[in-house]
Amino acid sequence: MVWRRAPPNPLESVRESYMGSYPSPNRDRPMTQTAPITQDVLTIPRKLPDGPINLVGLTRNALREVLIAHGTPEKQAKMRVNQIWQWIYQWGVRDFHAMTNLAKAYRAQLAENFVVTIPEVVSKQVSADGTRKYLVRIAGGHEVEVVYIPETDRGTLCISSQVGCTLTCSFCHTGTQKLVRNLTAGEIIGQVMLARDDLNEWPKPGEPAGERPRLISNIVLMGMGEPLYNFDNVRDAMKIAMDGEGISLSRRRITLSTSGVVPEIAKTAEEIGCLLAVSFHATTDEVRDTLVPINKRWNIATLLDTLREYPRLSNSERITFEYVMLKGVNDSDADARRLVQLIKGIPAKINLIPFNEWPGSPYQRSDWERIERFADIIYKAGYASPIRTPRGEDIMAACGQLKSATERSRKSRAQIEAEAGL
Ligand code: SF4
Repeated sequence: MVWRRAPPNPLESVRESYMGSYPSPNRDRPMTQTAPITQDVLTIPRKLPDGPINLVGLTRNALREVLIAHGTPEKQAKMRVNQIWQWIYQWGVRDFHAMTNLAKAYRAQLAENFVVTIPEVVSKQVSADGTRKYLVRIAGGHEVEVVYIPETDRGTLCISSQVGCTLTCSFCHTGTQKLVRNLTAGEIIGQVMLARDDLNEWPKPGEPAGERPRLISNIVLMGMGEPLYNFDNVRDAMKIAMDGEGISLSRRRITLSTSGVVPEIAKTAEEIGCLLAVSFHATTDEVRDTLVPINKRWNIATLLDTLREYPRLSNSERITFEYVMLKGVNDSDADARRLVQLIKGIPAKINLIPFNEWPGSPYQRSDWERIERFADIIYKAGYASPIRTPRGEDIMAACGQLKSATERSRKSRAQIEAEAGL
């Protein structure tokens, strides 16, 4: 696979306006415009040249190591990790001076060497249906999108794992954006933290656990990027999300969606143990090769063989098969019947996704009657086949539409610059 070097971002020097009231801890920091964007998919170094170390995204072991390396006595390290962890991930506190169960001198020592910082919210849009979309800036000036979808019985946060994507699925707008880089674990868990900030979801220090309803009850790794091409960072971030002393989300409330990176699937079961969703979208290799080109590398039969093992390895109930409904492409009765045959023996749910059109998209959404008929065939074969209600379409936050707003805002800024004679 050919990885590309990131093109220079012409907008790095453009300060964008804040549409929300997010109290970003980064707001007064200088932008890290010159942070190195390393070749390929390597993540940027955690410690930027001459900068303090960001504690967000470190595993407990890594946190212990950096504390010891910066003067915490080894015999105190475990206790310090617990205390700092709780402040950061349970209470959402990012100022060392507010960590009141630490001695003043120790707080000052921490502040000298470390920061607790998360990606910066550049803008927030709220859809008529309550869906929130955040445009988020990470080190290097790049942007990813994060979507919060409130429902009656849950609140789902859709997070990104890469800037852009290499996989060029032909129905997906994100796939038209070249990969820039992988996100660090801190940038991945940071998306959860910034959404908690915006939703005012952090409990107050000392508040008993479970006092307030969880606004973010579920995380889905379905935003920009292929999570299994950034495995280690995704794993570390999700371990932090699951840690009982912090954000404390059950592994059954985290769903990782892959296009079918077969070699990493068993590892996902063993090292993360979350639920798995697969962007399936077709019932023949011929069609899937076009819609999800990674199929040329790992075809339907190979993928299904691997998926059959997943529930046992991860001790999870079922796999979600995502199936985007494209008019005249993959939505026939024969497709529905083939799908049922293919997944036979796999505990599964099939999520039918009415295609969300984006400017220049080569496909159309299947007619509603067609989607219902397709769902009916699957349902009668014994599988749950919910039709996903498009959410946040008015702000281009629906599935497969991410990136669009970024592009639009880029265009308008370019226009503004042109008008200003820049
Ligand atoms: S569907 Fe997922 S894997 Fe495919 S191009 Fe879009 S973001 Fe990448």
